[in-house]
Amino acid sequence: MEATAMKCPSCREKLRMRTTEEEAPCFKNVWYECTNFDCGATFKGHQTIVHQIRPSALENPYHVVPMAPTVTGKLKPKIPQGSTKPASLDKSGLEQRP
Ligand SMILES: [Zn+2]
Repeated sequence: MEATAMKCPSCREKLRMRTTEEEAPCFKNVWYECTNFDCGATFKGHQTIVHQIRPSALENPYHVVPMAPTVTGKLKPKIPQGSTKPASLDKSGLEQRP
């Protein structure tokens, strides 16, 4: 399964991950470069893990991430009529904040 590549905000072509730097078990700095030769933009962003959907099967995991509210039952996803995706997700699959 291929991960969906980030797109360049300037020209919408694919971005290539050039360098990563782990700051914490769930937080990385990421430097991107645009694959469009005519654009050539570069960016710095972040990659984060915010919740886990299913816990690790390891007896002593290195780092424990909080369970997602939708899994713990604290938040139930609202699925609009005629859709298969929860309303809290935008087109990119990222959760929308209120
Ligand atoms: Zn670009």
